[in-house]
Amino acid sequence: MAVTKTVSPERINFAVGKGVTLLGENRVQEYLSKKDSYDSSAEVHFIGHLQTNKVKYIIDSVSMIQSVDSLKLAREIDRLAAKAGRIMDILIEINIGEEETKSGIDSGAMKELATEIQSLENLRLRGLMAIPPIGADESVFEEMHGLYEELKGMGGGLPRAAIDTLSMGMSGDYELAIKHGSNLVRIGSALFGARNYNI
Ligand SMILES: *Cc1c(COP(=O)(O)O)cnc(C)c1O
Repeated sequence: MAVTKTVSPERINFAVGKGVTLLGENRVQEYLSKKDSYDSSAEVHFIGHLQTNKVKYIIDSVSMIQSVDSLKLAREIDRLAAKAGRIMDILIEINIGEEETKSGIDSGAMKELATEIQSLENLRLRGLMAIPPIGADESVFEEMHGLYEELKGMGGGLPRAAIDTLSMGMSGDYELAIKHGSNLVRIGSALFGARNYNI
């Protein structure tokens, strides 16, 4: 995935023209201001912290919400997906470094949330997303891999799920992430250059 926060539509469309097929945006306001200018051949995933009152703005245009971190948010996505007549793909975000400044649920709460959202008919759980702390030890990546395998292992306990995505790895750590099972890396600055603000 090419993470396109702070990147202008012109540069995004240049990247799409070069073969990028998946974009990631993390701020609702910024995404809304740019999305109508996007080359429509690329899909967009929402990857930032999402407030329940903003789901309505993105429900029609993104193909996945990677940052589901509460049952309340899952319920609101389900409700609006039903209204829009669609099934929304989601990932559960795990706060793997247990950092106070980051969103995501504790790893110990994964199974419970995954099970609870099975009653929501308009969601399809596809896997997990995480942002390991900067400079995190390899064991943190391996722990995420373990959680992902655990989720896959829930099998019939997750009748509405299709677990195939571990979204982990950014410009600074994607090699480690891939080594530990990631199959979706989210690359921003390594593609587009440094931003003037951090995540
Ligand atoms: C900004 C961002 C990225 C990309 O970060 P880079 O270090 O620029 O590659 C990945 N994931 C999320 C959730 C982000 O907000």
